[in-house]
Amino acid sequence: MFDAVIIEKNDGEQTASFRQIAQNQLPAGDVLVKVEWSTLNYKDALAITGKGPIVKSWPMVPGVDFSGTVVESRSSDFQPGDKVLLNGWGVGEKHWGGLAGLAQVSSEWLIALPAAFSTRQAMILGTAGYTAMLCVMALEKADVKPADGPVLVTGASGGVGSIAVMLLSELGYETVAVTGRMAEKDYLESLGASRVIGRELFTQKTRPLEKAEWAGAIDVVGGQVLASVCAAIRQRGAVAACGLAGSMDLPLTVAPFILRGVSLLGIDSALCPREQRIRAWDRLAGLIDVTRLEDVVSEYPLSQAIEAAHALMDGKTRGRILINVAG
Ligand code: NDP
Repeated sequence: MFDAVIIEKNDGEQTASFRQIAQNQLPAGDVLVKVEWSTLNYKDALAITGKGPIVKSWPMVPGVDFSGTVVESRSSDFQPGDKVLLNGWGVGEKHWGGLAGLAQVSSEWLIALPAAFSTRQAMILGTAGYTAMLCVMALEKADVKPADGPVLVTGASGGVGSIAVMLLSELGYETVAVTGRMAEKDYLESLGASRVIGRELFTQKTRPLEKAEWAGAIDVVGGQVLASVCAAIRQRGAVAACGLAGSMDLPLTVAPFILRGVSLLGIDSALCPREQRIRAWDRLAGLIDVTRLEDVVSEYPLSQAIEAAHALMDGKTRGRILINVAG
């Protein structure tokens, strides 16, 4: 038996509970992992509270990411004792996820833990850090270079945004943080932001093209903010779009794309090919000092993950939420 958060649906009503589950109930997979750490992402909170259509089959163990130690393996890629991590692949949505003492998954979804990180440090970064790295790599691939000019990060005080600010500044970009919380200015500057500007500068409807100010951008917000950012990107610049924290809509014209050659780069961390995710984690290991994120980590035991999910949905949490699964 092992502890787990489990989401069930009975008579059309969804409930989440913390209880013990028998190992023989685990879904099929060629690697069994003793989960040590997981995180609470926005997606996990939507799944646990039932506020968003994340769960595709019931019962479901939520948790889109985890790190831990291999216990049993029928794959030649992993041996018992190996430290591993997982992000996405529909885990916590279609396949039981990381908010449980054990996870049985496909070896193709796991990657070896980079030597630079402990299992706890890997989850301080979690899906947010890995997604921020994918965004930076997309800008690099689009040939946005530090010498080209300032790069924006929207939703900068959130998980993806904070780590994107750290990565860009570490790589030498002039990084401009956009936030709705100017109280976080000092924190964002401590992460490497050259300037911190208010979100309200991007929330009004713009002309199809505005003054070309930014060489590139990483956007987690979507909606009018993303549209305003695209309208103010310089010739042949690029925007990596990964989120919808503000809105799913995108009220923009084609003008930035056809008159300035701007590229809008979509980021899908969950189904990103394996080689690219290994590259992203290796680069995170080389670029990030995780201890700088300790101030924004709150840690909960697995038994309190459901309460933490409700707090996240009510906007009562801040920074990265780590779930200590192994205790
Ligand atoms: P967080 O909740 O940690 O951060 C989101 C930030 O967005 C907030 O801190 C806030 O920043 C800003 N924000 C929140 N609400 C609004 C609003 N209504 N209007 C404008 N800005 C707002 O989330 P994450 O950083 O973990 O994730 C960010 C987004 O990226 C989410 O939509 C998430 O679903 C998505 N995501 C996508 C992935 C992918 O693969 N495509 C992977 C991981 C996440 P501030 O206060 O500084 O303005």
